[in-house]
Amino acid sequence: MKWVGAHVSISGGVSNAPINARDIGAKAFGMFTKNQRQWKAKPLTDEQIDGFKSNLEAFGYTPEQILPHDSYLINLGHPDPVARKKSLDAFIDELQRCHQLGLVYLNFHPGSHLRKISESECLALIAESMNTALNETENVVAVLENTAGQGSNVGFRFEHLAEIIDQVEDKSRVGVCLDTCHAFAAGYDLRTEADYKSTMDQFDSVIGLDYLRALHLNDAKSAYESRVDRHHSLGEGNIGWDLFRFLMNDPRLEDKPMILETIDQQRWPEEIRQLYGMISTQ
Ligand SMILES: [Zn+2]
Ligand SMILES: [Zn+2]
Repeated sequence: MKWVGAHVSISGGVSNAPINARDIGAKAFGMFTKNQRQWKAKPLTDEQIDGFKSNLEAFGYTPEQILPHDSYLINLGHPDPVARKKSLDAFIDELQRCHQLGLVYLNFHPGSHLRKISESECLALIAESMNTALNETENVVAVLENTAGQGSNVGFRFEHLAEIIDQVEDKSRVGVCLDTCHAFAAGYDLRTEADYKSTMDQFDSVIGLDYLRALHLNDAKSAYESRVDRHHSLGEGNIGWDLFRFLMNDPRLEDKPMILETIDQQRWPEEIRQLYGMISTQ
């Protein structure tokens, strides 16, 4: 079954996320577990945790249908050891919050070299940070997201993600989230069926489809190969609707959260309906 949803708000508390997801007809959702613009957050209370879990159950969501996202402040590949440690501590806290909520994934952007070290050095630091974080926590799978390659962000080539995974000790706790806008902006074409097939084949040969745990469904306001990260509503951008029909009919993408991060939240219920409507019945 395809699990389509959107990145919903936790305004008013984490227990509101499943309610917000249910309200837009989502079968999956993304969320933050704290304010993503702050380094520190108050620990989750038992009441918040229980409220979240009981809403999940009430609306029929399982942990595998949820893709929590970490704070955008975190850079596990930061060239400066002090700044990197700050990121690592925050990342460990995020993994623990996910675990407390009974969740199984934490989605994050790999990191940035800030033009101070090479891509490869940055990728090795990210893997080293991940190894420490995974050793100090339980269960939760760290889900690397491919990036558009804006600025000094690494992770825009499938080879970057493979290089990180290669250096992560516990392979059972590392996965990948494929963001369609980021892939397109980074130079992986997705506009025609042949492009889609070629990009997925590259993903499989470089990373391995076994590592694919989730998708971010976004059209792109940015141009192909522009290395610029600008999302758009489905069908409104430079990728177009066809890709989303290929995705909805790809049997390899069953039972993985497919999360909209498109720019117009008002359109999410309609986008979710349109996506489900694209599944061909034969
Ligand atoms: Zn994304
Ligand atoms: Zn993005």
